[in-house]
Amino acid sequence: MGAQRFLPTLDFARELDQADRLRSFRKEFYVQPDSIYMDGNSLGLLSKRAERTLLEALDDWKQYGIDGWTKGKHPWFTLSEKLGERMAPLVGASAEEVIVTASTTVNLHQLVATFYRPQDERTKILADELTFPSDLYALQSQLRMHGHDPEEHLILVKSRDGRFLEEDDIIAAMTEDIALIILPTVLYRSGQIMDMKRLTVEAHKRGILIGFDGCHSVGAIPHAFHEWEVDFAYWCNYKYLNGGPGSVGGLYVNRKHFGTAPGLAGWFGSRKDKQFDLETIMTPATTAGAYQIGTPHIFSLAPILGSLELFAEAGIEQIREKSLALTQYFMDLIDHELVDMGFEIGNPRDELRRGGHIALEHREAARICKSLKEKGIIPDFRAPHIIRLAPVALYTSYEEVWHVVHTLKAIMTEKHYEKFTNEREIVA
Ligand SMILES: *Cc1c(COP(=O)(O)O)cnc(C)c1O
Repeated sequence: MGAQRFLPTLDFARELDQADRLRSFRKEFYVQPDSIYMDGNSLGLLSKRAERTLLEALDDWKQYGIDGWTKGKHPWFTLSEKLGERMAPLVGASAEEVIVTASTTVNLHQLVATFYRPQDERTKILADELTFPSDLYALQSQLRMHGHDPEEHLILVKSRDGRFLEEDDIIAAMTEDIALIILPTVLYRSGQIMDMKRLTVEAHKRGILIGFDGCHSVGAIPHAFHEWEVDFAYWCNYKYLNGGPGSVGGLYVNRKHFGTAPGLAGWFGSRKDKQFDLETIMTPATTAGAYQIGTPHIFSLAPILGSLELFAEAGIEQIREKSLALTQYFMDLIDHELVDMGFEIGNPRDELRRGGHIALEHREAARICKSLKEKGIIPDFRAPHIIRLAPVALYTSYEEVWHVVHTLKAIMTEKHYEKFTNEREIVA
């Protein structure tokens, strides 16, 4: 694929769009005609299917009131389980190993509360310094709840270059005092894919449990969590999964752990047939469902139903194939058009390592992002110097990528960015 045919012309971009087998999915989305959306890895766009299933859920409320829990088009009582079943193929797990519940950070809390079992000398948690800060905050507070000082008990693997992590460095840090490992599937800045299979094998050799944050990979790349024997994982559904702002998160637990009591228990983790017995002692579900806590946010679940239809129809392998082709084309065009302008590609070029977005680095990144916005292109800025650009397989065209690169070129040539300050906005 690195050797895919490339020409810098607009005609060639259009030719690629014509040949694109996923082309028809774009019209399933609300793509705004006067802007180019490059931020699908922060918040995916609304699809017509997601809108439909959300409206259907509202209609169930309208028609059935309380009976919406068991009646209607999408009975709420088992909606999290149903979505888990439909999401399972995207993470390479069985239906029972996946539940759609809570949010990323809450699910991390749940999983650490469940699987972090410090014993004797084994008291530390291993993570990395490039991970999303919310994960670190959660880990620090979990350690404190166990009476451990995070300064000493949270070990962060260092990056050699500020962009990437080396599996060798992580494995070297899997020492006898580590009880649990939490790592990203894909790094949120550079888009590097971690070798999850290798890391899991090495962790298990040393008797350490390992879990992954899949926010930047689920919906963009295929996974085989069960086959790799990953112990647990969690992710959000509002990025590549297009579930809408604040949509309910995903959680996977390998079946070998079924029966492990939830660290943070609540009645929605009950066996469904026992839940309404309302006994004083909980009977947890014998599936990943056990790690739910309270009543699910139905209107933040409902859009995911429609969105997942699109993933089932397109197929995650085809989505990955197009995503790689889009990012390769993006890089080819950047290499061709943005020469000597101070840009550097900060994501891995290698296909085995490259996630779903381009991390374009520039000293003036914050200002360039503001320029892009003024010109109708929606990027995503990550301090201090990264412009994240995510061409999304289901709705981004090659022609849009062409326009993004040419707009960047114009911004640099005309020094259009100089009219802005080089600071980030409140939500970046
Ligand atoms: C987006 C993201 C989160 C967000 O967590 P929420 O609890 O959904 O706010 C966490 N981790 C990573 C790696 C992310 O990219």
